[in-house]
Amino acid sequence: MSSAALREPIEALTEAVRGDVIEPDDTAFDDTRTIYNAMIDKHPRLIVQCANVADVIAAVNFGRKHGLETAIRGGGHNGAGLALVNDGLVIDLSAMTGIRVDADAKAVRVEPGCTWGDVDHATHAFGLATVSGVISTTGVGGLTLGGGHGYLTRKYGLTIDNLQRADVVLADGRLVHASAKTNPDLFWALRGGGGNFGVVTSFEYQLHPVETVVAGPTFWPIDALEDTMRWYREWLSAAPEDVYAFYLTAEVPASDPFPEAIHGENVCGLLWCFTGAADEIDTITQSARDIAEPLFEAIGEMPYPALQCMFDELYPPGDQWYWKGDFVRELTDDAIAAHQRFGEVPTSQSTMHLYPISGAVHRTRADETAWNYRDANWSMVIAGVDADPANRETITDWAREYWQALHDHSAGGSYINFMMEEGHDRIRAAYGDNYERLQEVKTRYDPENFFHVNQNVEPTTGAV
Ligand SMILES: Cc1cc2nc3c(=O)[nH]c(=O)nc-3n(C[C@H](O)[C@H](O)[C@H](O)COP(=O)(O)OP(=O)(O)OC[C@H]3O[C@@H](n4cnc5c(N)ncnc54)[C@H](O)[C@@H]3O)c2cc1C
Repeated sequence: MSSAALREPIEALTEAVRGDVIEPDDTAFDDTRTIYNAMIDKHPRLIVQCANVADVIAAVNFGRKHGLETAIRGGGHNGAGLALVNDGLVIDLSAMTGIRVDADAKAVRVEPGCTWGDVDHATHAFGLATVSGVISTTGVGGLTLGGGHGYLTRKYGLTIDNLQRADVVLADGRLVHASAKTNPDLFWALRGGGGNFGVVTSFEYQLHPVETVVAGPTFWPIDALEDTMRWYREWLSAAPEDVYAFYLTAEVPASDPFPEAIHGENVCGLLWCFTGAADEIDTITQSARDIAEPLFEAIGEMPYPALQCMFDELYPPGDQWYWKGDFVRELTDDAIAAHQRFGEVPTSQSTMHLYPISGAVHRTRADETAWNYRDANWSMVIAGVDADPANRETITDWAREYWQALHDHSAGGSYINFMMEEGHDRIRAAYGDNYERLQEVKTRYDPENFFHVNQNVEPTTGAV
């Protein structure tokens, strides 16, 4: 539809909604279309910054009626930039930030513009927390709908395992509720199926008593990767569920608390989080130390939200990001050798993380939610990151080559939240045996594929 033909409908929409309707000529436009990954530069036709559910319904109806490609923006952290769309409509939820904690029921209701920092802040006041990711500026919407894993995952499962209900505005503009009892097919699909089924306007999560944790890094020189990763593989397979440690390769940041003498050193290491008995911690970390002499270690007690913010400064918005991931069932000796070959990072913020998804995650069957890889032990991400756009190719090539060397050792598919736009085969691989059922639910709730700016599950109608 031409810009002139849209003029009157846009004016009517602006009158109808409580939030702002932002167009390319508006001064707020560039700020509003800026997302976390600076590699993404998309120019929408229209951004509706929704103030409430009524605005979301109006925006969905507007996009459908006028045939606009429509994207959903939560926290804007999606690596592939799927929060935005060129020449289309962006339903921006970032202003919807209400939170209500019910401490007695150990539950929290969260609006879709919240970041995980907002949620941690609200629940920590009651000594409670739920499962989320390792950076507090990430949005609740994208992380939850993709699955969600973080420091509490081995003990309490994925974020979707803690999702109790959701409110969803469907493609036809209706608001429906989804839970184990109400629209259970939709609830099944929302738990891992991404933004394919509608705009979620409210998430309710189960909370757990987590107030302080013992956490922090152990770093070794990169040469110690093979020995320490082999130890990590064996140790994790029998570790108690209240102990979590993700394996990483990185460069030591040139900032506190790291001694100047090791700034810029390439390292491998573990980021620990203990929620259990404090006396177990020393024994476990000592057995890691016995494998190789650490270059640096700083493990101590801290409020859970402090751990959640630990990486925020290192990874501010506005850097270039290119990442690739895969699920990993087994860390074979050959895979470990490949990690040793590629582990040296090309820029100071680039990194590889192996996030454990064992423990409580394995207690849910693969067909109980849309998340398929319940038998994998790690979700791996190789992230090329740098502030300088001139290094875009360097970080992209490194991530691709590293991933290529590991892919044959992986379980076959990736966590959808660690994918760029990688094509339909990769989306199918992410869902494995759950893909056909996701297609059925998609066909029931969005037969025209209105919500296709995502890691798209195609309806059986053939609409693209
Ligand atoms: C620095 C960094 C660290 C990360 N760490 C972790 C981690 O520890 N664990 C983890 O699991 N993931 C992690 N991720 C990945 C993260 O889960 C994804 O990037 C996720 O897409 C971010 O969600 P968002 O709401 O911020 O994204 P957005 O870019 O706003 O949204 C992404 C997509 O999600 C969908 N969506 C978002 N909100 C809604 C909604 N309310 N209704 C319907 N669809 C919606 C849309 O399809 C949208 O395109 C990390 C990402 C970054 C950049």
